[in-house]
Amino acid sequence: MRGFHVEHFGCRAARADGEAIEGRLRSAGHSLRQPSEADVIIVNTCSVTAEADRAARAFIRRTHRLNPEARIVVTGCYAQRAPVELAQMAGVAAVVGNSHKAMAPEIALGLARHGAAPQSPPQLVPVGSLFAPGAPNSATRPTQNRASIWVDDHFAHSFLEETPLAPGTQTRPNLKIQEGCGNRCTFCVIPQTRGPSKSLPAATVLRQVEGFVAAGGHELVLSGINLGRWGRDLPVDDGAAASFSRLVRAIFERTALPRLRLSSIEPMDWDAELIGLMSEFGGTRLARHAHLPLQSGSDAVLRRMHRRYRPWHYVAKIEALMRAAGPELTLGADVMAGFPGETDPEFEETLELVQALPFGYLHLFPFSPRPATRGWTLHAETPVAQETVAERMAALRALAEEKSRMHRTRFVGRELEAITLHSPPEFASRARTAALTENFLPVELEGQYTANRLLRVRVTGLNAEGALEGCPVLRSSAPGLEEFRAQPKPQLPSGTLCW
Ligand code: SF4
Repeated sequence: MRGFHVEHFGCRAARADGEAIEGRLRSAGHSLRQPSEADVIIVNTCSVTAEADRAARAFIRRTHRLNPEARIVVTGCYAQRAPVELAQMAGVAAVVGNSHKAMAPEIALGLARHGAAPQSPPQLVPVGSLFAPGAPNSATRPTQNRASIWVDDHFAHSFLEETPLAPGTQTRPNLKIQEGCGNRCTFCVIPQTRGPSKSLPAATVLRQVEGFVAAGGHELVLSGINLGRWGRDLPVDDGAAASFSRLVRAIFERTALPRLRLSSIEPMDWDAELIGLMSEFGGTRLARHAHLPLQSGSDAVLRRMHRRYRPWHYVAKIEALMRAAGPELTLGADVMAGFPGETDPEFEETLELVQALPFGYLHLFPFSPRPATRGWTLHAETPVAQETVAERMAALRALAEEKSRMHRTRFVGRELEAITLHSPPEFASRARTAALTENFLPVELEGQYTANRLLRVRVTGLNAEGALEGCPVLRSSAPGLEEFRAQPKPQLPSGTLCW
């Protein structure tokens, strides 16, 4: 194969899958290329909203026009949810659902070697049984295209755990340790597209972390579809069930990882032990950053969503986290507008709750009906008008911007730990470096530094876009300061250090 390209869509866990596919193809000796130059293009899709589906289809159409010779392999949640629909698109050579995602690299290599789609075992298609009757994507039509389809509902090949992690194109890679979800939130298609919750064994997680540290990595992001559920499907070990907080503690006690970041964790999975770890390690080895999906501030809407907490539970978790981590904690949440039947007073409750809590950022979504979910039916019965959803999204956006700016402004003049990232070209032309603080604030540093350096930075201000600006700082208490001062510093243009 001349080269391959992986296009990523979706959440951190999906990104981790795509990075693992990239890693396997690279370790098989193939190189990453732009879509116009690759002979195999893997499209790692998301299907959380209708917009995510549209974006994936648009990419496939654009890519096929740009590079008609390339063989396109579509994988991810959309591939699992509607494989026949994707298999019929021009240019698509194979559709590999999440159920067979671990086989995606082999399927891509087979396509590159033999020039034709490998035949999938016949029992894998069609997958009409995955979908509710009447849903628009429950197609069992014969595919016009010759694309092979690799999808079933057993999810036996859904992990990509053996790909070693290293700080390469991603300075802060995701280690996906949990897959799938057994909850049944009424708006969510993920239980259908990723199956029930499954955990990577603790020994494999620890081996992966050790390998990452040995490869020079400094910051690792633990991710999963429902991360806090990690371990509940694993056998009892040492007389106690595996739990996520025990795993995090084991990472701190048994590896030398300098910084661990936790991706999204459901509010009720922040138990006392996990919050205790934030108090014990927060700001040193555990990033003071917590993302707790909220979705709605209305008790009635949360009940209709089948969420497992009430607004007061959510507030109690945030208060406990703030006490444990301190005011440097950056809090994030997902919030949805326009869930079926959401009234003006119910939406006001969401606005009031968001206003009251110290969020540093919000991910906002308009409700999108997904086939084969309860939300699809609720939407048919009690839809919220599109204009109303748009107004509510605008109100949430304005509030999110205000809260984000307030949160960032609090750090001007203060010092924070940060890691340098791969900077976009426009940063290099201005002698700047992109970095991310330990508490999840993007910061633009004066001077040029290689990626994957841990630095202490002083925040000097906010730029016009509201992002932090800063410069590296040397602490008088820093160990080895005198030696550092005596060393030549070729990478630091003059005037870029704060003393
Ligand atoms: S917890 Fe709810 S929203 Fe999250 S993946 Fe599971 S079903 Fe979907």
